[in-house]
This record gives sequence, structure tokens and C-alpha cells, in this order.
Amino acid sequence: MNSANYPVLVLNQTYEPLNICQARRAVVLIYRGKAEVVENDSGSMHSANLVFPLPSVIRLAHLIKRPHIQKKLSRFEVFNRDHYTCQYCGKETHQLTLDHVIPRHRGGEHTWENVVSACPWCNRHKAGRTPEEAGMKLKHHPVPPHNNHFFDIPYQYLQSRNEWQKYLPQ
Ligand SMILES: [Zn+2]
Repeated sequence: MNSANYPVLVLNQTYEPLNICQARRAVVLIYRGKAEVVENDSGSMHSANLVFPLPSVIRLAHLIKRPHIQKKLSRFEVFNRDHYTCQYCGKETHQLTLDHVIPRHRGGEHTWENVVSACPWCNRHKAGRTPEEAGMKLKHHPVPPHNNHFFDIPYQYLQSRNEWQKYLPQ
């Protein structure tokens, strides 16, 4: 790979991972004082007669505020959040239903915190009851999905760089 295209992890001023850019762009940001090098790669980058150490992780000098746009609650987004896994029995399937943890007729709301993916069997078994009443335990406490696009980057790709790991959430 041409070292100018080499991927560089970009951290916010808070050290929170923001995105990935190409080494060429990272070097420009550093040169303009808009970012600092946090980790260097062992390689170097050549440009005309200049040689730069190849950055691997950079941190922005200024805080980037990202708009907090809440994803719209839909069947697709709930199944996606739950990785197409029934939140009661753990079965991975595309045959899923939306379950209100606290049933709607009992005052349960139609919110990210009260809807989960359930396979048809678990949904039928739970029926109009709460998980406690039905003796069913949720695999995860439901929360709104990440609205950070950083997490759209494939996991395997992020794992491929050793020096990135300490900056990435588990
Ligand atoms: Zn199930």
C-alpha cells in the first residue's frame, strides 16, 4: 500500500475515537497544527524531498462536537441493535418480533429502553407479562443504539492495528 493512503486513527480532543483518515490527510492536519501525533507507525512517508514519520494515531487540537441525532425507533433498527438475536433465549434469527419488555397495556412505553427483539416462541411464551412474571431473563438491558458513526467501521478492520487498541472502547 502506498504509505500516503495508510489508515490513521483520528481521536477527538477528548481521546474519543472519531474516524479514520488517510496518512496524507493526517500529515496535513499535523503540519497545520490542527492535530498532534499520539502514536507513530514504524514506517515513513515520502513527499517530494521530505520524509515524515508515518502517523498511526492522531489527536485533534480542538473538540469536535457531533450532533446527537437519535436513531428513529423501527423494527429494523431494534433488530440491528440486538444483532438479530432474541433477547430472551439468545437465538440468532431473522424471524423476529418486537417485544415490549413492560407490556404496553401495563404502561410500558414504545422507547429504545422498553423494546427488544424476541423470537416468535419467546414472544408467545411471554405473552402479556413482564419478564419477571414470565420467569424470563433479558440477555442485555435495552439502550438506544450508538449514534456514533465510528462504530459503523467493521470490527475486524479496527482490530487489525495493534497500536489502536488502547484507544478503542472494548
Ligand atoms: Zn427466543
